[in-house]
Order: sequence, then C-alpha cells, then structure tokens
Amino acid sequence: MATKGRTASPAPREASAPVVEAKKATLDSKKNVDSLRKQTRPQGEFYGNIGTCFWTFFIPVAIYYFYGIMVMHQGRLVVPDGSFWHDLIYSLPDGLSIQPCWGPTTVSLTWVFLQALGEIILPGKLKEGVALKGGRRLMYPMNGLLCFALSNVAVVLLSYFGYIKPYYVFLNMGALLTESVITSYVMALWLYIDYGLFWRRHVGDEEFEEDHGVFNAGDFWNDTFMGVVRNPRLFAGILKTPFDLKRFWNARPGLTGWVILNMSYLSAMYYNCSLPSAYGIGESRFFAEHAAKSATIEKLFAGADPSTFCASEGSFSNIGLAGAFITFAHWYYILDYNVVEPAYLTTTDIRHDLFGFMLTYGDWGFLSRFYPISFMGFLAQQGSSSSGFITSNYLYACIGVALYVNGMMLFRITNLEKHLFRDHMNNGGSGDKYRSPWSTRIFFGDKKPEYIKTSEGSLLLTSGFWGLARHFNYVGDLSMCIGWAVACYSPDHPFPFMPIGYCIYFWLMDCHRCWRDEVRCSKKYGADWERYRQAVPYAIVPGIW
Ligand code: NDP
Repeated sequence: MATKGRTASPAPREASAPVVEAKKATLDSKKNVDSLRKQTRPQGEFYGNIGTCFWTFFIPVAIYYFYGIMVMHQGRLVVPDGSFWHDLIYSLPDGLSIQPCWGPTTVSLTWVFLQALGEIILPGKLKEGVALKGGRRLMYPMNGLLCFALSNVAVVLLSYFGYIKPYYVFLNMGALLTESVITSYVMALWLYIDYGLFWRRHVGDEEFEEDHGVFNAGDFWNDTFMGVVRNPRLFAGILKTPFDLKRFWNARPGLTGWVILNMSYLSAMYYNCSLPSAYGIGESRFFAEHAAKSATIEKLFAGADPSTFCASEGSFSNIGLAGAFITFAHWYYILDYNVVEPAYLTTTDIRHDLFGFMLTYGDWGFLSRFYPISFMGFLAQQGSSSSGFITSNYLYACIGVALYVNGMMLFRITNLEKHLFRDHMNNGGSGDKYRSPWSTRIFFGDKKPEYIKTSEGSLLLTSGFWGLARHFNYVGDLSMCIGWAVACYSPDHPFPFMPIGYCIYFWLMDCHRCWRDEVRCSKKYGADWERYRQAVPYAIVPGIW
C-alpha cells in the first residue's frame, strides 16, 4: 500500500511511472483490494448527513424561488406562499412553468451530448494533470477553446437560419431549470451506486484512488452530495484518452451554457420580450403584496400565447449598457477560462473535490441556470416593468465596469501566477531559473520566486500576490460580482435583489471554499502549513482577514 507522502506528491511523470506500475500490478491481481482503501476524504464539510440532505433539496428550491420572483414579479421580493408555488407550477405556460417539458429537455440534453462529442472528437493538445494519490497523472484534451468557438458559431447560425428562436431561453427557462434538477439528481445517484456501492468494479481504473467508494452506507446523503469518486473516466477501452466526466461537467456544458443563455436573454431584450405584468407605475417596493397579485397572475396568463410575448422586429435601443456589459463580461470570463485551460487542472475543483451532487448540480442546475437568471434574466424581465428595460443607468453601469475590470485583472493574474510556477517546478524546472509572468513582474518587480518546500513534496508560493494573502486569488471574483450587481441598479426599476442574491451566494461560497481549503491543506501539510501561515498570515484580504 502506498504511503501518504509518496502518493500525494506532485512527482514528475517519469518519477511516478514505477509507482503507477507497481500499484497497477497490485490492483490487477485484485488481491488485498480492501487494504488499498483508506477513508482520507474530507468529512463534514457541509455538516454531514443532515447538512448535505438539507442542501440537496434547499438549493434547488431556492433557485426556483429566484426564478419565480423574476418571471412573475420582475425580481421584486415576495413571500413564497402556497399561491406563489401554485402559480409557478400551474399558472404559467409550458416552458415558463417549472413543470418538466419535452421540448426544452431535448434541447438541453442535446446540448450536453454535442458538448461531449466536441470534447471527444475535436483536436487539441493533451495535458497532464497533477499527481493523484497513487502518483499517477491523468491526461486531459485541451480543445476547450475550439469547442467554445464552435458552440458560439453554431448557436448563432441556428438562430440566424430560424431553427431556434434567439430568445428561446426567455420562454423556456422554467422547464430548463427542472431538467437540470432531474439530470443532476439522476447523475449523483448513478455515481453513488456505480462508483460508490460497486467501487470494486473500478479498482483497475487508472483514476482509482485509495478513498474512492462507499465506506459506510449510513453516510448516504453525505456521499451522494460530496461524491465518492474524484475523476471518473468513461470509455477507457474505447478512447485513447478516456473521457473525464468531472472535468467535462465542470468545464463544458455548464460554463458555455451559461454564456449562451445570457446571449439568449440579451436577444429577448433586443426583441422587446415582455411577460404579462400585474405591476403598475411606481410599484417597486421591496415586498410586493403577493396575495393580491397572485390571483392576477393566474388571470394574466390564462390563455396567453407565448409566441406573442416577443416582437417580430428587434431594436438595439432596448439593450442598455448593463445588459451588453454583463453579457460580454461573463462571455469573456469563459473565453479566458478556455484560453488558459490547463490552469484549471491545478484548482480545487479538479485536485480535491469529488464528483457528487455538489458538482453535478453545482455545474449544471446552479451555474448554468442560476448565474444567467441572476443578472441577464433579471435585466430581461424589466421589459415587463412599467419603466421598460434598464437603458439609462450609465453611472451605475460605469462603476460596475470599473469594479469588473479590476476584479478580472486580479483573478487572471493571481491564478496564472500559481499555475505557471507549479507547472514549471512540476516539470523539473528550478526556482533559480523561474521567471514570474510579466503581469506579476509589473507589480512586484523581476524577483526570484519565494516558496516553502513542504515535506510532502509540494511547493507553496509565498511571493508576489501569493505573499499578500493565502487566497488572494479570490479577491478578483469577489470584486467582479459586485460590479455586475451595481450595473443592474437603476432608480426607476425594482431593486436588484437577484444580482445581490448572487453576490451573497458567491461571497459565502468563496469564504466557505477558503475555509475548506485551509482545513484540507493544514491536514495535508501539517507543520509546513503552519510555517506557510506565518509567512503569509492573511487568508483573503491583506491586513484585515
Ligand atoms: P485555488 O486555485 O487557489 O487552489 C487551491 C489549491 O492550490 C490548494 O488546495 C493547494 O493545493 C494549492 N495552493 C494553495 N496555496 C498555494 C500556494 N501558496 N502556492 C501554490 N499552491 C497553493 O482554489 P480554487 O480552485 O478554489 O479557486 C480558483 C479560482 O477560481 C479563484 O479565483 C476562485 O475565486 C475561482 N472560482 C470561481 C468560481 C465561479 O463560480 N466563478 C467558483 C469557484 C472558484 P495543493 O494540494 O496542490 O497544494
């Protein structure tokens, strides 16, 4: 059985090969299989079975709530009483209602299938991931940029030639939400059964690690939520490079889907789409009088024809700076991700998180649905409000752009700094010969990198931005989302609770992520992490926290 120190070290490829071969031989013999396993997965990060069971149901319901206030109240907060849910399920037409619907489900799953096909057949360099616990390093195709470009072109052409309405999402988001919830539950359950209960089937898989599979059936909720397998790979005997399901799910259908859905909402603004609305002039108070409105919503939508909700001719005058900016900013974020695709291989998502409901839903039901509705969905619904679309909030939109530019710059520079350093050193480079990227040199000068060499083998950077705070790379994201939310503010429109809701979620998520990472690293690096904490005392914000 491999020792912890040896298994987790990011050894160069050549050095890890004998370990891999030795382990494979042991696994292939299928003897002593049980002794190869060790419960080294993080436990209780989301408060065990009770916490994960709660989040499994609460988060989808919370997203339905946000969708409901968007589609029925232009983003105003309402009390979600029985009639709210009744309206959301029964009063809205197919597609807008959250009842499952074959059309949007087919569109959505076709999208997933085509994205998978893209990952499999499109050309791209192969890149080695970081070492698994057994020393092995998996290969990943780097064809994301091509896949992203083709996806964008395909969607534009399909709508240009009339195969799909450009504002399709505006009329079908309810059913798309429900499809994503069902798909995520089914996937999580399948992963739990196949890779969890039947983990022995996967002992010979190249990605098998000591902590895969179910250790205790009583941890059902925890295990379906947190996952029981880290890098499940499909079609191993068929494809030269097996299909890495977690990387695919994290990176392709959801991320690209998010920005395509945004574009569809932008088109809805262009085509002046608006839903029947019960709100009159000046009604933008925080808590709408829901009970009174509810009866109206049922009547408003009774017999309504969704094909009349959008105009046949479009106008750019409906698209304000906020809508254009947010569509571009999100699109650029994903473009950027694809341009520096290898950097993703060293992040928490790939390195540490297992693949369970947190990611099956997080990447699909949450990211590809909640992210678009929070900003672009909110803006697109303003066509139904008495003041029309948000087109003249220039001051707020400009503040938003400034916060975004600053955040995006920090995000990119900091994450790249760590990735390039680790990549250089992992591939046999030396600290003396390493030159920081120009973006870091601008701020910190052309200095040699400083780092802590841990006894576990990994290197922890302590210079440049990584010397300011241990998770300074989170500051960019935290600032960016505030910029997007500010850009959605307009004094003449409902207060942007939905964009702010996204910011609250994101801040909580990143802080919790920071805490999880600290706990994990402290366990992994022990005294070396303490040394690192002394060298870099702040967690996220230098001088404060
Ligand atoms: P990181 O990319 O910071 O990865 C954390 C890991 O990096 C640690 O577990 C550790 O892994 C290694 N590490 C920690 N400190 C150092 C150091 N000083 N030098 C070298 N390696 C170190 O974390 P995330 O994946 O959480 O975040 C990446 C980016 O993605 C952030 O900017 C974040 O804000 C963003 N993000 C965006 C989301 C969105 O929805 N838009 C969602 C989540 C994140 P090891 O075991 O290898 O040492």
